[in-house]
Amino acid sequence: MSDLARRAVFLEEMGVGPLWVRRAGTAAGSTVAAADEAGGQVMAEAPPGVAAPAAAVSQQAAAPVAVPLSVDAAISEMDWDRLQQAVAECTRCGLCEGRHRTVFGVGNRNAQWLFVGEGPGRNEDQRGEPFVGPAGKLLDNMLAAMGLKRGENAYIANIVKCRPTDDNGRDRPPSPEEVAACMPYLERQIALIRPQVIVALGKTAALSLLGRDPDTPVSRLRGTVHRYRELPLIVTYHPAYLLRNMADKKKAWADLCLAMNAHADTA
Ligand code: SF4
Repeated sequence: MSDLARRAVFLEEMGVGPLWVRRAGTAAGSTVAAADEAGGQVMAEAPPGVAAPAAAVSQQAAAPVAVPLSVDAAISEMDWDRLQQAVAECTRCGLCEGRHRTVFGVGNRNAQWLFVGEGPGRNEDQRGEPFVGPAGKLLDNMLAAMGLKRGENAYIANIVKCRPTDDNGRDRPPSPEEVAACMPYLERQIALIRPQVIVALGKTAALSLLGRDPDTPVSRLRGTVHRYRELPLIVTYHPAYLLRNMADKKKAWADLCLAMNAHADTA
């Protein structure tokens, strides 16, 4: 089966079509919106390999002494190995207490495409990999419809690396404090990957990356090419939402077409 035929099969499974064809010219019909950059300092217990806070430095040390990095600043200078180790051992927020495994991210670390979800669910927490189970299968089909494949030319990560659960053990969105504690890891991943396009999957990913008001609905963020720093960022629905709302798959496909146009415009 040719690549074109394979993509057609995936699109049919998603209930959408036809195959994407790039518009002539530049991103006509899309609006480029500047967005606030996510960021902010969160001081907490230092992960392994991170310099201790200034207060911990001996007052008796002979001058001159090196100025210690804040935790966030130290994370911003980590390589992949140190970053992955820091996440694996992280206790920066309370989500560390209930996790089985941290979910760092998966895929090509030089990918042009970065897909960002909310946080691990039960399956991800057990496997240590983002987007497994039915939502992961749908995401893989969405990628395939775009000519992409997990692990080959896309990277997949989440806003938080540990599973948030409510008092009954059910999945819940991460709190603003948990997002703030975990964002420096994703920010460093983005800096290391240097993707050409980011696709935010769902409300938590979109609002966290764009720094928008928590009450902003996804529907208001769709259809626009936003910016995360200099990078084009497109918002679409989370695959888990699409599994519950099949009629919105066509809207998701329109979002992915917008993302492909934005990607083509970066060439
Ligand atoms: Fe650390 Fe992020 Fe896990 Fe919180 S969610 S413990 S900040 S890795």
